[in-house]
Amino acid sequence: MAEQKRDYYEVLGVDKNADDAAIKKAYRVLAKKYHPDMNPGDKNAEAKFKEASEAYAVLSDPEKRRQYDQFGHAAFDGPGGSGGFDFNSMDFGDIFGDIFGDFFGGGRSSRANRNGPMKGANLRTSVRISFEEAVFGCDKEIELTLKDPCKTCNGTGAKPGTSPVTCSKCGGKGQVVFTQQSLFGTVRNVQTCPDCGGTGKVIKDKCPDCYGSGYTSSRKKLSVSIPAGIDNGQMVRLREKGEPGRNGGPRGDLLVEAVVSRHPIFQRQDYNIYSTAPISYAQAALGGDVLIDTVDGKVVYTVKPGTQTDSKIRLKGKGVPSLRSSSVRGDHYVTLVLQVPEKIPNEAKDLLRRFDELTGNSLKAVDQYTENKDAASGKGKKKKKGLF
Ligand SMILES: [Zn+2]
Ligand SMILES: [Zn+2]
Repeated sequence: MAEQKRDYYEVLGVDKNADDAAIKKAYRVLAKKYHPDMNPGDKNAEAKFKEASEAYAVLSDPEKRRQYDQFGHAAFDGPGGSGGFDFNSMDFGDIFGDIFGDFFGGGRSSRANRNGPMKGANLRTSVRISFEEAVFGCDKEIELTLKDPCKTCNGTGAKPGTSPVTCSKCGGKGQVVFTQQSLFGTVRNVQTCPDCGGTGKVIKDKCPDCYGSGYTSSRKKLSVSIPAGIDNGQMVRLREKGEPGRNGGPRGDLLVEAVVSRHPIFQRQDYNIYSTAPISYAQAALGGDVLIDTVDGKVVYTVKPGTQTDSKIRLKGKGVPSLRSSSVRGDHYVTLVLQVPEKIPNEAKDLLRRFDELTGNSLKAVDQYTENKDAASGKGKKKKKGLF
């Protein structure tokens, strides 16, 4: 008997009363996270993806959901106990089209006729770019291993002079049908043919160059144009640079994720840039021009007299260009931070003391307070009563 199956609601992390929108949303999150395109070679992710897809296939179908609510997993178990809902017969093509739209391309639809032209799978890679390259866009060269149809056998996988023969198990259809008894009568199940893997053809003599796969792999260099305004984690799609298609179908796409390096002074939030800039006491007190670093180079900003530390200013249009229109740019927000010099020449110290006398006498404040207190407590010589 198969291992204990998890509750479908638990798998999707939704309430038993969740509506269709909530179920779809929950599945979307899980499917994106565990999709094989995102986790190449990760068996655990693949299992999670299948589990979530199965839960979604049932809970998104009102009739199946009703059956499941009533009978649990038993609703889909055959009497022989071999059990299991056959998801090969499910129409995931529609589910993915619905959920992901164009994102994953059409290559994974299981409804597509396996003998007809099929788009190849999408590939994913990443490219590291600097903060400025992300802001202004750039061209990058990436290197990766790509499959091409084998030239020796023209992608058939068969030894030259021979050709693949029609699969005898499925008669070339690529699918086998079997029937099963269940609580709800006879269920007709369709599965991918195990002999030919769904292609409808089997290769008797394999091509010596590609060992029957029909593909050869080689390292390729590709140029990627990164648009101005791209953010960390966003992807550039190179059309038809993914896996080769089958039976004359187009290649899948290559999705290149931008990995943006941190900048020593600039931070980004959407299309705005944030940084701090130092100002001196004299600039803050008297006002005047300060130089501020931006992605466009240094700009002059005139601070008002009496500017406080941590004042925030906005440099309009000095942020990141919008991906849609490079003439539209975000803003650059700068926090002005007052810098106190650590070493001052003696002459400047004298001037500061004089300055302090004229502006509130902060250096003498404690002395004055103590004097007044002493006077009040009678230690003073003259007065019995002081200010305190
Ligand atoms: Zn070959
Ligand atoms: Zn077959």
